[in-house]
Amino acid sequence: YATDVQAYVQKVYDTVIQRNPHENEFHQAVKEVFDSLLPVLEKNPHYIKQAVLERIVEPERLISFRVPWVDDDGNVRVNRGFRVQFNSSLGPYKGGLRFHPSVNASIIKFLGFEQIFKNALTGQPIGGGKGGSDFDPKGKSDGEIMRFTQSFMSELSQYIGPDTDVPAGDIGVGAKEIGYMFGQYKKMRGGFEAGVLTGKGIGYGGSLARKEATGYGTVYFVEEMLKDNGFSFAGSTVVVSGSGNVSIYAMEKAIQLGAKVVACSDSSGYIYDKNGIDLLTVKRLKEVEGKRISHYVDEYPHALYVQGCSGIWSLPCDIALPCATQNEIDETAANTLVSNGVKAVGEGANMPSTLEAVHLFQHHGVLFAPAKAANAGGVSVSALEMAQNSARIAWTFEEVDAKLHDIMRNIYRESMQAAENYNAPGNLVAGANIAGFIKVAEATIAQGVI
Ligand code: GLU
Repeated sequence: YATDVQAYVQKVYDTVIQRNPHENEFHQAVKEVFDSLLPVLEKNPHYIKQAVLERIVEPERLISFRVPWVDDDGNVRVNRGFRVQFNSSLGPYKGGLRFHPSVNASIIKFLGFEQIFKNALTGQPIGGGKGGSDFDPKGKSDGEIMRFTQSFMSELSQYIGPDTDVPAGDIGVGAKEIGYMFGQYKKMRGGFEAGVLTGKGIGYGGSLARKEATGYGTVYFVEEMLKDNGFSFAGSTVVVSGSGNVSIYAMEKAIQLGAKVVACSDSSGYIYDKNGIDLLTVKRLKEVEGKRISHYVDEYPHALYVQGCSGIWSLPCDIALPCATQNEIDETAANTLVSNGVKAVGEGANMPSTLEAVHLFQHHGVLFAPAKAANAGGVSVSALEMAQNSARIAWTFEEVDAKLHDIMRNIYRESMQAAENYNAPGNLVAGANIAGFIKVAEATIAQGVI
């Protein structure tokens, strides 16, 4: 590519590093997108004059706030809350809230940045945002979780609304937390604004199939990619990391399509069941009993529990679905997967593969479905939840699932097409970045310098 375009992109990237020192995850997410954009800028030089890159890497607003709460022993505790309102070119800010001790500005910005492109890919009218707290829900009582989320929402409620910013769940935030936050928002604002949060309970404005959407969507997307290359989930051996919402429903759909899922994990370790994991047991342990995944082997003594998470990638499989967290597949893990003959990798989590791991997969011809395309199903159904809330109607599970399936097929087609148009045939990383970027760039320019 023209050296002046390369130099320009490098300059913008250097500025990102300078303005956001030590925010490694954010740098990584920006680099991954920028690497795909050289041919786009070369073909559309007015994007440079319009400073689209400079605008897209600078959040429209970054809110950081104190979250004080009282624990069960009566001690006052303080956590830090965040909301990044990254980009509203395509619609109200949309993206989840993550409660995890690792949360800081870098994590929230990387997630918010990814969300811009992911949300654009869905074709739904949603901008990009993300938020969360370094609060650790693990080991907290129900009362503590409620008091924390109420305090969090007391502050956040000033900045969000059905037409401005619509949070949802992410790691550590499920239907229970969304419920407490919805109640607190309602109390602070004095009205039942159903569309202010998504992932709500079915009884008060939630959408059927939202819980399943990210995991199902990942499998729908990967199935398209497999089909295009003469493979399928049917008869394949699959390893899925994680055992949260994304992982459980990715396993469910993969099994429905005839795959054998042999392993999954939590933050302490993984289980391996060569006969195929019994998903009902995993669901009961995680969703009903709130237990660690290690308890699986109490009921299935022939299965194996291994401490530590990264070892899961040393299990031979045809398809790997990382559905736990960022950077869980590094170069070493990727190498092991490749040596063991993996055919496809589909990212259910956000940025689960390092840049080196992605390059390695691509170099060895492993089919690779990047997160911002492959895990867009969750936020897609969130947008469908907003639509149902606005219209005061509720679609059936089958209706929502069919729309989700269509959206995932579309994202696959559009990403493949964009890759083709910009000289990277078959490269879904480039295709997803380019297709998402162009939609945001066009809307940004059309709305003037704001
Ligand atoms: N946290 C999910 C994601 O990473 C869902 C966001 C949403 O539904 O708004 O896309």
